[in-house]
Amino acid sequence: MLWARNHTQSHTVARSALGCASQYYWEVRRMKIAIIGGGLAGLTAAAYLSDNFGTEGTVFERSPQLGGRAFTYQKSGFTLNYGAHAVYGIDRHTLQHMEQELKLQFQSKQVDKRKVVYAKHGHLTPAPLDFVNILKTNVLKPFEKIRFVAEIAAVVANIHQLKNYKTLGEYLDHSHASADVKELWEHLVSSNFFIAPKDARKVSGEVIAEYYHNLFLSHKPVNYILGSWATITDQLIEKINHNEHWDIALKEGVESITQENGKYLLNTKTRQGLVFDQVIFAMPSQQVIKLLEGSSWLPFFEPYRNNTSTEVMVYDVGFSKVVSRPFHYISDMDNKIFISDVSATDHTVAPPTGQLLQGIAYLNDDCMDDEQRKEYLEGKTQKMEALFDQYYPDWREFVEVKRVSKKAMVSSVKNIHENRLVPSQIAEVPFLFCGDGCEGKGELAERAFSSGRNVAGLLLKELADIKSVAY
Ligand SMILES: Cc1cc2nc3c(=O)[nH]c(=O)nc-3n(C[C@H](O)[C@H](O)[C@H](O)COP(=O)(O)OP(=O)(O)OC[C@H]3O[C@@H](n4cnc5c(N)ncnc54)[C@H](O)[C@@H]3O)c2cc1C
Repeated sequence: MLWARNHTQSHTVARSALGCASQYYWEVRRMKIAIIGGGLAGLTAAAYLSDNFGTEGTVFERSPQLGGRAFTYQKSGFTLNYGAHAVYGIDRHTLQHMEQELKLQFQSKQVDKRKVVYAKHGHLTPAPLDFVNILKTNVLKPFEKIRFVAEIAAVVANIHQLKNYKTLGEYLDHSHASADVKELWEHLVSSNFFIAPKDARKVSGEVIAEYYHNLFLSHKPVNYILGSWATITDQLIEKINHNEHWDIALKEGVESITQENGKYLLNTKTRQGLVFDQVIFAMPSQQVIKLLEGSSWLPFFEPYRNNTSTEVMVYDVGFSKVVSRPFHYISDMDNKIFISDVSATDHTVAPPTGQLLQGIAYLNDDCMDDEQRKEYLEGKTQKMEALFDQYYPDWREFVEVKRVSKKAMVSSVKNIHENRLVPSQIAEVPFLFCGDGCEGKGELAERAFSSGRNVAGLLLKELADIKSVAY
């Protein structure tokens, strides 16, 4: 009973507890924690927890490597990420806390805003990301520019009406803005939330207003972590390995969990009945549901069962030379595809003379059968390659590496109003939850980091409370 959790506990990070809980408690007995999932969220939680003497634990990862969707690998001198490593608003990002608290070391580089363009009806024009680009862009007419600047100012001042609307779609339906301004809103939300415009209209007005409030106030709106996600995950792994009471079990997926005498028994393919005091699920909610299938905890997950995820097609391609570098980012408004010249910003990801591009196509294939989907994805691949042909002529001759993922999960819970992010704690369920489908700050990787940090804070607070009762 020592470890029974108080379910009314606040979801906020127990800041004071991070890194300093229970200096003495470990002399009595350490809290034994299982973390299921070795992606950004699981590694973050484990790095914070293993930094504390009062804990011991295991990170279980079913695949042969750590990193999950942020897994990074080297091929022919190129550094490829399974998921991209753009960080939005890094000066206001959870990574800032992690840098200080975990003493992480990393550098980042800003994407050059003057080299970010939109393609519309075959013409390239500056993306209206700041006041200079808004003046130059052709996606808006002069009077629309004034309107859009006013909209940005309202978002920055936190007084934009969008936050009072259930969805972007409802706001746009009531707005008197021109079709171009409406299209621009849809396109911005599409690209920042990685979703098709139809879904962009379903994102909550409050979520969008908060997201852009942060982004417009940021001095560093889009940055790449130099060296990609491995720069961060390698340091998190080193921290975990530094504590002799923590270990990482690769190729060891957890298959079931039971409860006995206030403890949790985990079964993996190779080991049965591993005993823990606490369990953190650090994986997409779809996988949590699979794991809890048949258990008495599953019904409490019902509100999250129908959550949908965000999926895209990813086309990474590395060239032996810089084929062409007119821009660093091209967002094609007609085809709903964008191409990032990743190596133009992060030179570390390609050999000195090489070039690494990543093309991403938003998918909208929810209501298709297998045959239609196959055809649809084939069509997307062809459009993507046609865009490469247009902006990087002769690219096919210089391909050194290529990785195409026809359906990659960007966010495990699409942030649209009918989906529900999973909270760190669910009443009646004794486990903790983190990952990009959980409640936390920001979107995508930031939500994985921030929710991982939150759950670690909750457990460290629990340790600190036990200590104060014990002494
Ligand atoms: C193409 C693409 C582009 C992206 N671009 C960006 C970007 O530019 N910026 C950004 O911020 N984010 C981006 N993301 C999103 C980002 O990669 C994810 O949000 C983040 O990696 C999610 O981390 P996570 O720890 O929540 O989940 P995951 O990475 O999915 O980790 C969960 C882990 O749990 C493991 N697991 C599952 N079940 C079990 C089990 N039963 N037992 C043991 N282990 C298990 C899985 O193998 C996995 O390793 C992108 C993603 C993709 C795919």
